[in-house]
Amino acid sequence: MRQKIVAGNWKMNTTISEGIELANNIIAKLGEIPQDVHLVLCSPFTHLFPLSKIVGDIKCPGCRSKISIGAQNCANKDNGAYTGEVSAKMIATLHEAVGTIAGAPEDAEGVKVEYVIIGHSERRGYYGETNAILLEKTKLALSSGLKVIYCVGEELSQREAGKHFDIVGEEIKSVLYELTPEQMKNIVVAYEPIWAIGTGKTATSDQAQEIHAFIRKTIEEKFGALAQDITILYGGSCKPSNAKELFSQPDIDGGLIGGAALKGEDFIAIAQSY
Ligand code: PEP
Repeated sequence: MRQKIVAGNWKMNTTISEGIELANNIIAKLGEIPQDVHLVLCSPFTHLFPLSKIVGDIKCPGCRSKISIGAQNCANKDNGAYTGEVSAKMIATLHEAVGTIAGAPEDAEGVKVEYVIIGHSERRGYYGETNAILLEKTKLALSSGLKVIYCVGEELSQREAGKHFDIVGEEIKSVLYELTPEQMKNIVVAYEPIWAIGTGKTATSDQAQEIHAFIRKTIEEKFGALAQDITILYGGSCKPSNAKELFSQPDIDGGLIGGAALKGEDFIAIAQSY
């Protein structure tokens, strides 16, 4: 179902204590964001276990349903001798252990990690993740019960050469076209122009709307009316001062936020921009 989502990508930032403090600051303000806006905190792997408990401990039911946690990556293999990798299944089941921590109350309950980011341009660029690898990751994440925030976006030179539709179209087709309609229901797409990530440059709302509409049309060509239900986020230097304008576009359903997600008050202000 198409949802208004504001997801924070913390990247490799914050110690566990700092991450817990950030999450607590955000949780304390959940009552101040619109009821139909959903937050996702995508923390480093090391933070997911405590965050599962902290979010699980939220008492007010109207607040708890407004927030999920997510990972930023998963392996393209199920299990085995892949030193340093973390599988989708490990991520999707970690909440089951929250009640087993020594001293935890009997009713201690963790929330399931619900999302994983796949295909972020930093993973594609720095770690050589191809569309073929990303398809493997996406399928494993979905079969483990995770929802996928699948990132696409072009470099500046590709936009200047007028190739952005081809690049983004290919990223959509080579991964998402391989999924079933049932699997597509658990996909969120994030359009993140690489030239706007962490640079302070934002796509104009017209540029962003144009390519979001293109993404929806490309999905529609394969999946028909289901495309109207797919949530498509914008990412790239989104901040409190530009979020309202971006989110007012018909095909922009929210944001994937990097730098501004590390400040609780900015993240909440972005979520209030609807
Ligand atoms: C990101 O990397 O996902 C991102 C959107 O970063 P920033 O908001 O810092 O540009």
